Amino acid sequence: MKIVDVYGIGKFGLSFEIFPPKTETGESQLFAALEALMAHRPSFVSCTYGAAGSTQDKTLELTTRIGKIFGVTTAAHRTCVGSTVEEIRQWLKEAVDLGIENIVALRGDPPKGQVEFKKSEGGLAYANELVTLIRQEFPHLSIAVAGYPETHQEAPSPAVDLANLKRKVKAGADAVLTQLFYDNRDFFEFRRRYEEAGITVPLIPGILPVVNLDQIQRITSMCGATIPVSFLAELEANRDDPDGQASVGVRYAIRQCRELLDAGIPGLHFYLLNKSEATFQILQALKLSR
Ligand code: FAD
Repeated sequence: MKIVDVYGIGKFGLSFEIFPPKTETGESQLFAALEALMAHRPSFVSCTYGAAGSTQDKTLELTTRIGKIFGVTTAAHRTCVGSTVEEIRQWLKEAVDLGIENIVALRGDPPKGQVEFKKSEGGLAYANELVTLIRQEFPHLSIAVAGYPETHQEAPSPAVDLANLKRKVKAGADAVLTQLFYDNRDFFEFRRRYEEAGITVPLIPGILPVVNLDQIQRITSMCGATIPVSFLAELEANRDDPDGQASVGVRYAIRQCRELLDAGIPGLHFYLLNKSEATFQILQALKLSR
């Protein structure tokens, strides 16, 4: 199935994002997590493209394997980091040869040690250029791109970021998957401006259930998402109780997703971090499966 056909009237898109593990143990854990979550019949599973070299080669292989083993639709992420246009083109050809139909097209973050993103020589500067390349040369591929309810960290203003997102969608994206966020008001305001700007492709909230306070503080400090004060206080109150942190996080995510569902979202994109427990509990509580 293509992402373009996942969302729409009478449909609900449920997707899971995973990353290529670095070890065999990590891989076993990932496959066990996916096995557990397949009962919820996801619309697709997407596999990230490593930020720094080591796991990049794995994305296509793992995406294909997950598709074969679980009989599920997949999407491979691709960034512009450290590649020439020709290298990206070859990678896309390989993806097509492997039967992959969906690409999550991204610019990527600056490599470790660099503050600003610098386009590689002969490479691409922004995700909209990658979308254009895919649309022109691989028109049958379906494309999702990233959107930022709290505005991308490098953007000078929400308005400029939205104009850039609009350009990226206009280049040929079929859906927008959002960065993780914890305050639904950020999403609703973003959706209002998104619609006002005339962007019509499905906007899918990205959900990362909190299971560990230190981990989520690390992640949010990197991606610029904020944790509401009252939620943070509840997590802090369980600082010495890992199970307590996870149950606060799961309860919060259930409430967050319920409110989003009531507001008519076309789908949910769960960042699994290769684990199933929290997302499984949330989907059970919401009675959500496709
Ligand atoms: P862009 O859309 O190119 O935007 C980057 C910045 O440039 C923004 O500030 C934007 O406003 C600005 N901009 C965009 N276009 C223009 C233009 N034409 N002219 C001037 N300014 C412009 N990272 C990975 O390394 N691997 C992954 O697999 C991965 N998967 C992700 C999946 C999702 C759903 C999300 C939300 C993020 C993911 N990321 C991933 C992180 C992502 O790479 C970073 O957030 C990165 O900093 C921006 O990527 P982008 O595609 O949004 O970039």
